[in-house]
Amino acid sequence: MTTDKDEKRRGPSTLAVHAGESHPKPGNSLATPIIQTATFTFANTQELSDHFERRIEREEYGRYGNPTQRIAEVKLAALDSAEDALLFGSGMAAMTTTLFAVLSRGAHVVVTDDSYRRTRQFLNQVLHRFGIEVSTVPAGDYDAMNDAIRPTTRVLLSESPTNPYNRVLDLERFVEIGRRHRVKTIIDATFATPYNQRPLEFGVDLVMHSATKYLGGHNDLLAGVVLGSADLVDGIRSLQAVTGGVVDPFAAYLLIRGLKTLALRIERQNANAQALAEFLDGHAKVEAVHYAGLASHPQHDIARRQMRGFGGVVSFEVKGDLSAATRVVDGCTIPQIAPSLGGVESLIEQPALMSFYELTTEERLQVGIKDNLIRYSVGIDDSADLIDDLAASLAKA
Ligand SMILES: *Cc1c(COP(=O)(O)O)cnc(C)c1O
Repeated sequence: MTTDKDEKRRGPSTLAVHAGESHPKPGNSLATPIIQTATFTFANTQELSDHFERRIEREEYGRYGNPTQRIAEVKLAALDSAEDALLFGSGMAAMTTTLFAVLSRGAHVVVTDDSYRRTRQFLNQVLHRFGIEVSTVPAGDYDAMNDAIRPTTRVLLSESPTNPYNRVLDLERFVEIGRRHRVKTIIDATFATPYNQRPLEFGVDLVMHSATKYLGGHNDLLAGVVLGSADLVDGIRSLQAVTGGVVDPFAAYLLIRGLKTLALRIERQNANAQALAEFLDGHAKVEAVHYAGLASHPQHDIARRQMRGFGGVVSFEVKGDLSAATRVVDGCTIPQIAPSLGGVESLIEQPALMSFYELTTEERLQVGIKDNLIRYSVGIDDSADLIDDLAASLAKA
């Protein structure tokens, strides 16, 4: 299932619409049919043995793949310049199965500090029970990353941009450290999408995304994807056949449908986030703005080198405490209060009261989550409306 060379030269919007889709389709349908089945039939026992001897290419059972899923995978592989892609039922299914596939007892992982809460939990609690050790280093401290590597280190893992602070990793340095020590590099690129950043082109070994976010783009499906060389992805596919975190055919269809407008949505979300970040930057009631599109962002130059746009999440700190941030969130009328990000609807949340709710202020500070922090995921709304709405809420707060 490698990507056609001609497809690779096409632009991201053309790829998003066409890649993976052959014609004619069953029934001469223009849209991709949803092959909503759990299993696949064999005409006779000869066909069964042809399948097992790999003389023919076909599906066997839903946990091992589905034609609708395959089309979404080829599309995603084309967008991310990957040899192969593998879909899962959620981003966390992609993350956990990938890590299980590349790690064994006694192995060691180096991870950067600002990351999705459940990824941290999987590394520090679940994998720990299987005798896998984890070192956490500050995102952007390459000496610390290099020094953390041990003879048993197998994986270097980071998000870029990171959640929720939008820190941007220098992918060239990250890959260089990985190669020097023969350690696999993995980037969770959920915040960027392949429209804004393609880490495999920098030599990263594996990229993963929560497709629940921008790739699906409409807050109506859960899915995850891992992308990389055919060889690496194949190893993960074999484990998925056992662990079973597969995507449903209908979710795969919704993902294909969502992906068609990926470039349009991300262009708008990049622009909306930039406008919102510039509005917030220097606002009397705002303490700090974390957005890589601002010249004041510490990794702005790196982001400009390796990204087409800076994404749709703006994180900012209001002046004051937890309740000051709550007043700003509750005072907005356009963004809905919800976990998640990346869809056409704008969403807003306080990480301290969402992902990190059960921790104390001190425990949250230890993992870098400030009480006055707000994460705003812009949708495709008109930016003037988002700014007016937030301005009114800040004025009242
Ligand atoms: C949401 C998210 C995940 C987990 O994805 P699910 O689809 O919710 O399982 C992983 N990494 C990042 C950066 C995310 O934002």
